[in-house]
Amino acid sequence: MLAAYACDPLHSRGRRFAEPPAPTRTDFQRDRDRIVHASAFRRLVYKTQVFLNHEGDLFRTRLTHSLEVAQLGRSIARALQLNEDLVEAIALAHDLGHTPFGHAGQDALNACMTPFGGFEHNLQSLRVVDVLETRYPQFDGLNLTFETREGILKHCSRANAQALIAQEPGGVAQRFLERTQPSLEAQLCNLADEIAYNAHDIDDGVRSGLITMAQLEEVPLFESHRRATLAQYPHLGDASQGRRLLYETIRRMLSQQVYDVIEASAAALRLAAPAHADAARLLPPMVGFSSAMREQSQVLKSFLLRNLYRHPQVMHTTGQAQQVIADLFAAYMDAPHTMPARPAPIHGDQPEVSVARQVADYIAGMTDRFASREHARITGLQLLA
Ligand code: MG
Repeated sequence: MLAAYACDPLHSRGRRFAEPPAPTRTDFQRDRDRIVHASAFRRLVYKTQVFLNHEGDLFRTRLTHSLEVAQLGRSIARALQLNEDLVEAIALAHDLGHTPFGHAGQDALNACMTPFGGFEHNLQSLRVVDVLETRYPQFDGLNLTFETREGILKHCSRANAQALIAQEPGGVAQRFLERTQPSLEAQLCNLADEIAYNAHDIDDGVRSGLITMAQLEEVPLFESHRRATLAQYPHLGDASQGRRLLYETIRRMLSQQVYDVIEASAAALRLAAPAHADAARLLPPMVGFSSAMREQSQVLKSFLLRNLYRHPQVMHTTGQAQQVIADLFAAYMDAPHTMPARPAPIHGDQPEVSVARQVADYIAGMTDRFASREHARITGLQLLA
């Protein structure tokens, strides 16, 4: 039951290395299965989303975040008759390139890599599935379909796009020069990512005590549902019921956003009526919030930025995380032979650039706890352990 504009595995642009089709699975289902079996996927369980892994067992990790993105993405995909399997594959792979320690780690590694071409987690996610996973005898990487790889490469600078195109003419980076959109399934994953982290960061933020329900009163998207919940279940106003009130409020908030995306996107797609998946790529973005919900979501995002992501306690761990990454980078640059064997350097690069990329690949692949331990072993300092 796919819409005309959905990605159809029978019309996939294919894999970089041709393979015979699987007997019982479509190419997108096969992509998803390859992602789930990848080493980088398993490491997501020990990587930070916002809260560091050791701060508590109940906070989201990159793995549980990716599962929530896949769940939200599939629900919306089904309602819009988009390809659920492709959405699931993209969602499960979208964070594979993240460094340890969340955005602090990414920023620190990018700073270390600035003289060597920089570090960007979207690009790294693609590099993981294209190069760094070494599981198959015939090729490096997972040899995923064009459509899954297109969805993984969410953002890309012009310079990075040109470098990718040099290796893969007309490939997944081409759209960044042509300024066209990715598939509707990829657009959907982007939005499902945002819906997921906005909701779970409220949950984790309140659970950690860094933000309070009272502070959230200034966020209309949250507050309207909190009030509606209390009107229907007044007993949840009791202090002992705070957790239930929080969950019910978040559940309603999530539902409203999901229905909003479905309604707004279905209306846009009815109007534009793209005849096939490629026609949808040439249109403006089709999967999105209504303008009213976009505004409400912005208010929530800026609340989380001010009150959670820049909370002094989060900033403190951020500073430590940056030190761990910078120290590790310097240590491996000085002694690259102390790293386990890395995939061969990129041809045509200066040797130092190749070594830096190998160091970045190694550090980016680490879990939070492995990075802390390795840092303690090398420097004798106990940070974030
Ligand atoms: Mg994400």
